[in-house]
Amino acid sequence: MKRVTILGATGSVGQNTLDLIRRAPERYKVVALTGGRNIAQLAADALEFGAELAVTAHDELLEDLRAALKGSDVEVAAGAGALVEAAERPAHWVMSAIVGVAGLPPSFAALGQGTTLALANKESLVTAGQLLKNTARQARATILPVDSEHSALFQALVGEDAAAVDRVIITASGGAFRDWPLEDLAKATLAEASAHPNWDMGQRITIDSASMFNKAMEVIEAREFFGFTPEQIEVLVHPESIVHAMVGFCDGGFMAHVGPPDMRHPIGYALNWPQRDALPLERLDLAALGQLTFREPDPARYPALRLAREVMARRGLSGAVFNAAKERCLDHFISGAIGFTHMAEVIEEVLTRVSADNSLIDAEITLDHVLHVDHLSRQCADEVVRERNG
Ligand code: NAD
Ligand code: MG
Repeated sequence: MKRVTILGATGSVGQNTLDLIRRAPERYKVVALTGGRNIAQLAADALEFGAELAVTAHDELLEDLRAALKGSDVEVAAGAGALVEAAERPAHWVMSAIVGVAGLPPSFAALGQGTTLALANKESLVTAGQLLKNTARQARATILPVDSEHSALFQALVGEDAAAVDRVIITASGGAFRDWPLEDLAKATLAEASAHPNWDMGQRITIDSASMFNKAMEVIEAREFFGFTPEQIEVLVHPESIVHAMVGFCDGGFMAHVGPPDMRHPIGYALNWPQRDALPLERLDLAALGQLTFREPDPARYPALRLAREVMARRGLSGAVFNAAKERCLDHFISGAIGFTHMAEVIEEVLTRVSADNSLIDAEITLDHVLHVDHLSRQCADEVVRERNG
């Protein structure tokens, strides 16, 4: 039986992962499940899957979790330290599906035990890619991408020589506002930004899709995970979300990964890897789709992509600055403190201010340094927002 742990089990990726495990219970032993504030969901899943351990990220919810699991054999724990302990519990396969940089310490801890880490938490790679890769190498752990575009690239590269790759293209749906008049973007509301045309995902990544900050993160993620140069990584807007990524080889051939927009495909690929097993996905009917379209992303609509290029050029800990500023701006957009288009402006300002300190950005990429830069960048984002709002 495969021992599996799911970090961020109550979220969108976590629930899709449990959906696959539910279909083949004889193959899996659930070790640990972690969640945030949704204690009812966490407790129900821990009972259904017979988890050894259930952890909420929030100390103050420990007693609620304990009460919800009273009379069962499930151990309970709470807090950031408990998340790391859950990730360290021996397991063959760990899903990293916490949202935000909060997912980094547990991702890191899971790798330390030499497991196979299915990595949905792109923030880990953007903030500390080299650290994760080095840790995996030392601990003989494996990292498998779960982000759909990166899983697509990974699959298109099986059996290929990395030196034969000319370029890679990741696609973007264009998000909720791809066809809005540019001048309307400033007035976009939270509800409008939270509705994705093709994918059903958590609220934060859905808003990041509308602003293209999700794709900006993914360009950096592709660089960190596969080691492509920034010039090799391209983005195309593809409204149908059927082609997830393409690899262009030196002989002019192109390998495209094509499939329905359903996260259970990349999750299932990582769960069954290195095998390919049947998955409960809708089968594509290309004739019914009729056509697939592609276009260049408009730089005026999506400043996030330019900022990602600046981060990749700057390297060092600038990925941690970028991610923290983005996370904080998202909080401020959700709370109504800033408008939709202000997010990119504030993030750019934070990058300028924090990156001015070379010794900070060029420091060695360690967990402590990443979390320190993350903290400073969040403070800086709050400061910039305060200044703007007078
Ligand atoms: P979500 O918001 O639906 O779920 C997030 C999970 O993390 C929940 O279990 C929540 O309780 C937990 N969590 C939130 N804050 C936490 C904290 N501070 N500490 C510990 N746990 C916390 O998010 P999601 O859409 O499932 O995305 C999860 C990750 O996967 C993100 O990094 C996202 O970018 C990535 N991802 C998601 C999708 C998708 O389809 N949803 C696709 C590709 C990549
Ligand atoms: Mg993606």
